[in-house]
Amino acid sequence: MTESPALPLTDRVAIVTGAGRGIGRAIALELGRAGARVIVNYNRSAEAAEALAAEIGGVAVQADVSSAEGADRLVAAAEALGGLHILVNNAGITRDGLMLRMADSDWQAVIDTNLTATFRMCRAAAAVMLRQRAGSIINLTSISGIRGNSGQANYAASKAAVAAMSRSLAKELARRGIRVNCVAPGFIATDMVEAMNRKVVEGVLDVIPMRRIGQPEEVAHLVRFLASDEARYITGQELAVDGGLSI
Ligand code: NAP
Repeated sequence: MTESPALPLTDRVAIVTGAGRGIGRAIALELGRAGARVIVNYNRSAEAAEALAAEIGGVAVQADVSSAEGADRLVAAAEALGGLHILVNNAGITRDGLMLRMADSDWQAVIDTNLTATFRMCRAAAAVMLRQRAGSIINLTSISGIRGNSGQANYAASKAAVAAMSRSLAKELARRGIRVNCVAPGFIATDMVEAMNRKVVEGVLDVIPMRRIGQPEEVAHLVRFLASDEARYITGQELAVDGGLSI
C-alpha cells in the first residue's frame, strides 16, 4: 500500500487573526485542511471560532488584536503548539464616512486595529520566526489602499500603510528566511460588504471586469499558496484578488 503524500502545511503552526467569520474563517479552514495547526483568533465571535477550531483540530484563542497584550497572547498560544510558521493578519474594521464628518475616534480606531495591531503581531511573530529562521507572514490589505475610496480615508490609509510596512519588513527579514506578503481583496461576500450601502455595492458590479463579488475561499486559496514553500521566492508583494477591479 502506498502512503498518501503529506499535506503541504503539515507540522506548520499558523495564527489567523479574526478567524471566527468572513475571510479569516475561510483562511483558517484552508490552512487547516492543508495540514496546519491553526490558532483561530477571535475577538467577539467566540462560538463560531470554537466550532471552527474543533472542525480543523486547531485552538480558538480570544484576543483583541488592537490591545497591547493581544499579540503576545496569540504568539504564546502558537509556541505552546511548537512554534510559529505562518501569521495571517486578517482582523480588520471599517468606520466609513466622508472626511469632513469623520471623527478622530473613527480615524484612530481603524488605524489601531488595521495598522498598529498588524505591526505588533508582525513584531511578536518575527521574534519566534527569527529563531526558527523560517516563516511566512501574510497581511490582508485592500483595493481601497491601492486606489483610494471616497468615504474610506481612514481605512485606505491604514491598508496602504500596511502594504508599505510589509515591503519594509520583507527587506528586513528576507535574509533570515522570513517572507512578508500582502493579499488585497476587492469586494468579497462577507459582513463587511453586507454593511455597505446597497447602491454602492450594486454600482461596483458594473466596474468589476468579472461582474461579480468574490467569495472568501477565493482569497483563502492565495493565502494558502503564499504560506507554502511553493511561494518560497516571493516576498514583499501585494497581490489583488478582485475580479480585475484594480486593472
Ligand atoms: P468582517 O466580515 O467584517 O470580519 C472582521 C473580522 O475581524 C472578524 O473576524 C472580527 O472578529 C475581526 N476583528 C475585528 N476587530 C478585531 C480585533 N480588535 N481583534 C481581533 N479580531 C478582530 O471582515 P472581512 O470582510 O472578513 O475582512 C477580513 C479582512 O479582509 C479585513 O482586514 C478587511 O479589511 C479585508 N478586506 C475585506 C474586503 C471585503 O470585501 N470583505 C475587501 C478588502 C479587504 P470578531 O467577529 O471575533 O469580533
